[in-house]
Amino acid sequence: MVLAYDAEDTISSNHLCQPNINNCDNYQANNPPLVQQTPHAHRCGRYLEATRDVPAGMEFSPIGGIMVQVLRLVDSVRKCLYIVGTALLVLVAASNTITWHLQRFWGASGDFWQRKWENIYNLFGGDHFSLGVIGTTVYGMMVFWFANLFLLILDMTGKPATLLRYKVQPDKNVPVPRDQLWRAIRLVVFNQTVVGIPVAAAVYYIMKMRGCSMLPADLPTFHWALFELIVFVLVEEIGFYYSHRLMHHPKIYKYIHKRHHEWTAPIGIVSIYAHPVEHVLSNLIPPALGPILMGAHLANAWLWFGLALLSTTVAHCGYHFPFLPSPEAHDYHHLKFNQNYGVLGVLDRLHGTDNMFRASKAYERHFLLLGFTPMLQQFPDAPSKSKSE
Ligand SMILES: [Zn+2]
Ligand SMILES: [Zn+2]
Repeated sequence: MVLAYDAEDTISSNHLCQPNINNCDNYQANNPPLVQQTPHAHRCGRYLEATRDVPAGMEFSPIGGIMVQVLRLVDSVRKCLYIVGTALLVLVAASNTITWHLQRFWGASGDFWQRKWENIYNLFGGDHFSLGVIGTTVYGMMVFWFANLFLLILDMTGKPATLLRYKVQPDKNVPVPRDQLWRAIRLVVFNQTVVGIPVAAAVYYIMKMRGCSMLPADLPTFHWALFELIVFVLVEEIGFYYSHRLMHHPKIYKYIHKRHHEWTAPIGIVSIYAHPVEHVLSNLIPPALGPILMGAHLANAWLWFGLALLSTTVAHCGYHFPFLPSPEAHDYHHLKFNQNYGVLGVLDRLHGTDNMFRASKAYERHFLLLGFTPMLQQFPDAPSKSKSE
């Protein structure tokens, strides 16, 4: 039995989607020993490959042990080569093509973006303060409510009913209690206006000091815009992870962050349902830091803010829809409180704040759904732990 778990450990080091079971009693309690299992609906069905060729009864003999060791080593190397090799081939073959297409799109539509930004710029009469403060606030609200309108209709009416099968926590908030919802909407609008506008003004002056432009003539090139976006993502991960962990400090949590965690099964608008202090520290400053550091053009900052708003809406929406990023990690954070503090998951891995998550069923579901069969159907909870997962 121990051999079987060891085998999985070795495989997991070369297999990104495998749960890490190190130090996890929970996982062992919920997963019977591999040598007794029949293949089940595990995400990749790889558990048994390292042990299936060992003759019955030999699992516990020294020879059987060596065979398992050799087989799992070969298996690991093979899988590693397969994954790395395939990824390299695809990258080498496609990188030039992808870059060319993107650049062509950017170039061909360069006039389009230029004209659009000119229109926006002229709409504010070339007044930089209005564009930077009011323009940014209105734009952010438009993106947010546009993305959430559809989700709100779904959450309030339960229609179209066919989408309910994509719920991450199927028995929760169907439909959403109206009083809870209005309470959330009121705070969200307060955060977007009373809190958001002064912060937008402060960010405007800081960006001005950093030399950020908003002139249509200064729009960045495709490569520079892309490079900046990558920096924005990484800076936000650092800012959000540590400010979020600070919010969970026992001496702070109950005064500030508890508000956001009233929703153990979140919905889209909960992404900015937060105490105003938290809204500034975790929701506004981390995304603004990247553009400030890079001295970015306001148009690229808007593109980034739009992406960040869509991303956090998806992370909170409570549905694991096909072809959209997985919301499992942050949904799990709302369920368990002390897991998955970050956005990308990179710092959670570094600090081990995703150990419980990686041993959970939710982790098996945590990938891009490329079909229409709901995750819960593909990876159902074990009956005994349906409440705890
Ligand atoms: Zn949240
Ligand atoms: Zn939290």
